[in-house]
Amino acid sequence: MEVRFLGVTTNFSNNAIQVKGQKQIIDSLNCIGLSELVTTPTLPMLCDLNYIFALSFPVDVEFTPINISIILRKDGIDKASMSFNLTELLKSGDFKPKTKTIKTQIIHQKFNFTQIDSPGTYDVVCKVSEETIIGQIIFHPLPPRKYSLEEINAIKSNPLAIKYVRGEVSCNQCQEKLKFYTSFSKDKNLEKNGYIFAKEIPKNYSCKCGNMNFSTDYFRDGIDFFLGDSSVGREDLGIKALYQSRTLQGIANRFRNLLSTESSEEEFQEFIKKNPILLHMFNAREIRFKNPVLSKYKTDFTILTHSKRVINIEIEKPGLSMFTKTGHVAKDLKHAFDQLSDWETAISNNRGSYLEDLGYSNSEIVSIEFFVIAGRTGNHKLKSFHHLKNQYRNYGFMTYDDLLNSLIQLVSNVDKL
Ligand SMILES: [Zn+2]
Repeated sequence: MEVRFLGVTTNFSNNAIQVKGQKQIIDSLNCIGLSELVTTPTLPMLCDLNYIFALSFPVDVEFTPINISIILRKDGIDKASMSFNLTELLKSGDFKPKTKTIKTQIIHQKFNFTQIDSPGTYDVVCKVSEETIIGQIIFHPLPPRKYSLEEINAIKSNPLAIKYVRGEVSCNQCQEKLKFYTSFSKDKNLEKNGYIFAKEIPKNYSCKCGNMNFSTDYFRDGIDFFLGDSSVGREDLGIKALYQSRTLQGIANRFRNLLSTESSEEEFQEFIKKNPILLHMFNAREIRFKNPVLSKYKTDFTILTHSKRVINIEIEKPGLSMFTKTGHVAKDLKHAFDQLSDWETAISNNRGSYLEDLGYSNSEIVSIEFFVIAGRTGNHKLKSFHHLKNQYRNYGFMTYDDLLNSLIQLVSNVDKL
């Protein structure tokens, strides 16, 4: 009887495939990223790990009950254990020893959620008749994820942004439940339903019977990692989207209403600041409002994109007159582009210190770009927009209708999700 530890994975499936017209059965084993090093935002982990072992045993073992225990031991202390019975496993149907005298079989098992709560190296100990160390596994926590205000603005401009992440674990003896959640702002509704804000869980959590207890040192802050990762779609985590199509439609309606009034530039600045989703097309990583340019100027918005471009945006009022009767760029709009040109000159003379003010290094930024948002698309001729594009090749331009239409488009995309 021999047990080997092969590693851990979050992805595991074991499907027996019957090949058509043949008696042969193909065992398809799928373990992606088998590893002995686990990097995780939280400890205890919020996703299940499969521990993969190879068992070798004589075929006739089927008739002898054998108990196997696997223990995770750190600094001489047993942190987690599980046991299974080989005879029971054989009955489960995955095992088909026939002719050979020795059978090797891969098996996967899981430990209880709360048992591994501190980083470091754990020995994987196997106990059949006696104990043998069959491997090691290292748990390595990611540094706590702290979000700057600029990053939170940017996350809110992402249509897939997450409003909160919640989960629950329960003691299998006293049945006490720990329901927890995290979010950028506390959620009264969740708290009414018994969810505790992750940062307020006691440092050492223990249920009333004491069976389920763990340190939350690597949990309380670590869980925030998931707020910035809209790709998490974990079944065991409850993830609430910040935007549903209803919410987005509401923002679009209010924006359209605001456009129909004679509101000032500042009111639009404020509206976009409160609803950064209007800037979703920039794929922002950070968004700053009223950002200084070398203490000489101030942009309306400065965006760092995920592709490391810095985009400086000037907004003018929607009512601004854009074109002359002959279809050329009118004075007010020209003035807006002149401002971009002033910023560009100042920055190109002091690129390094400008980026340093933003907290970036000169080499990490791919490009610095400039953008005007102004006016309405209205009935202006296409030719006029061509003139504008030609005259200001190096600068970006959008009307308020472009912003609105992009949001409406987003609503229909979210509807299709
Ligand atoms: Zn309990």
